[in-house]
Amino acid sequence: MSRVYNFSAGPAVLPEEVLKEIQEEIFDYNGSGQSVMEMSHRSKVFDDIIKEAEADLRDLMHIPDNYKVLFLQGGASLQFAMIPMNLMKNKVADYIVTGQWAKKAYQEAAKYGKAVKIASSEDKTFSYIPDCSDLPIDDDADYVYICMNNTIYGTVYKELPNTKGKDLVADVSSCFLSEPLDVSKFAIVYGGVQKNVGPAGMVIAIVREDLITDDVLEGTPTMMKYKTHADADSLYNTPNCWCIYVCGKVFKWLKKMGGLEAMKERNEKKAAILYDFLDSSEMFKGTVEKKDRSLMNVPFVTGDKDLDAKFVKEATEAGFVNLKGHRTVGGMRASIYNAMPIEGVEKLVAFMKKFEEDNK
Ligand SMILES: *Cc1c(COP(=O)(O)O)cnc(C)c1O
Repeated sequence: MSRVYNFSAGPAVLPEEVLKEIQEEIFDYNGSGQSVMEMSHRSKVFDDIIKEAEADLRDLMHIPDNYKVLFLQGGASLQFAMIPMNLMKNKVADYIVTGQWAKKAYQEAAKYGKAVKIASSEDKTFSYIPDCSDLPIDDDADYVYICMNNTIYGTVYKELPNTKGKDLVADVSSCFLSEPLDVSKFAIVYGGVQKNVGPAGMVIAIVREDLITDDVLEGTPTMMKYKTHADADSLYNTPNCWCIYVCGKVFKWLKKMGGLEAMKERNEKKAAILYDFLDSSEMFKGTVEKKDRSLMNVPFVTGDKDLDAKFVKEATEAGFVNLKGHRTVGGMRASIYNAMPIEGVEKLVAFMKKFEEDNK
């Protein structure tokens, strides 16, 4: 049995320790005589799993008591609608568009009220984060929305926007648990877990309690009200039990690794190996402004489409998979999430060096 180095943007690499534990428990979870895939979500065994997962996440992120943690389905994409449906009381929201995901969220919100694009980096193919220190925030904006880490383009906010007192909502899908985050600065922090946390099929939304009310847009489906899920502790209907279980294991793994401070250090070290090489290479170049570089998603190009394709092909054959850039941007992208070991990045860089030598 051999494993590749998987640089997929999502679904993505999971910690091997976690996969092994799951394998051991697949026939008989903790003496229950069943797999977690088979058990009732109303059982005591599962109740312990979901409660422990939430407690560990709260612990890892230091989530304040006045925030609910919700395990929801529909992916990050359903939140694009759920957020305006629950938060647009004045029917105005400000969006900072720094990539495809922020743009989709902005377009979705426009169905429910006045969505205002207050800044964008689309003029330069989303290769930077705009200056957000003094934006034209609407007086009656219900919230300001950002996508914290731009998975496709490889940029990240190093500083939060000045929202002039308005609530901040952030999609953290591709940087979730990659470093400490001060939850108290946000109204909602949410992320699809299939990027940096667990398997596909779930989004975790951390929502400030005062925003969880029955006062939602008319016609909002029951399943799309935060209150429905908050009142039922994420068990209003059958949740993604398997995903909650695996995420719970990843939370324990993160705690064992030293928590989010330690992950930040490790992620900075890992990203530096790749960025330092890109900055010194004659052939490979990073595609975003240095000050806005993501620790998680690293896009790069050779400047020659055929050479890019050759690189991706040879890298795949050598066991470095899913390095092809997003279909909308081309080139390459290495996603180096929490579970990517440092030696995975070191070996990738060694492979890139050799490729450069051979293809001069
Ligand atoms: C992948 C991604 C999404 C979409 O996630 P789904 O779970 O597929 O809906 C949204 N936002 C960001 C930042 C992403 O990386």
